[in-house]
Amino acid sequence: MKVGEFEMHEMAEKTTLDAKLMAFEDRCRKNGLKITPQRIAVYKALINTDTHPTAEEVHKMVREDIHNISLDTVNRTLLTLAEIGVAFRVEGTGQPRRYDGGMEDHQHFRCIKCGKVIDFHYEPFDNIEIPAHLQGQFQIMRKTVYMEGICETCSEMSSN
Ligand SMILES: [Zn+2]
Ligand SMILES: [Zn+2]
Repeated sequence: MKVGEFEMHEMAEKTTLDAKLMAFEDRCRKNGLKITPQRIAVYKALINTDTHPTAEEVHKMVREDIHNISLDTVNRTLLTLAEIGVAFRVEGTGQPRRYDGGMEDHQHFRCIKCGKVIDFHYEPFDNIEIPAHLQGQFQIMRKTVYMEGICETCSEMSSN
């Protein structure tokens, strides 16, 4: 049987999802965290979207599977995920916090009008150097380039 391009794509996506879940469970174990259905559900919701959701948005998604999960649990779980390094808080978005489970190298553009956070990837930005004097001063866990401006949709709207 010939596998169509679409199915191939679906399969590839499933493999990445499985691989990510396995890596996630591994990370939990190494950090002495129990692998609970809640943690898995929150993590899955996070890696299944590129909208950089807030805790409330994640809560809405997770509730479809786990009906009685509280917003507080989702909030705490997101913080835990950030602590063990499988997710991070999106920089520059103020309140409410937005989270990202995409740990592949990428950068963010944020629209100051609609607040949308859009992923982009520009390889030279992956390798920005940490100034020597900061290396001694801080324990750097993540470095990123972050851009702010007006997105395509918003600039089209204002030119019409
Ligand atoms: Zn915009
Ligand atoms: Zn992102």
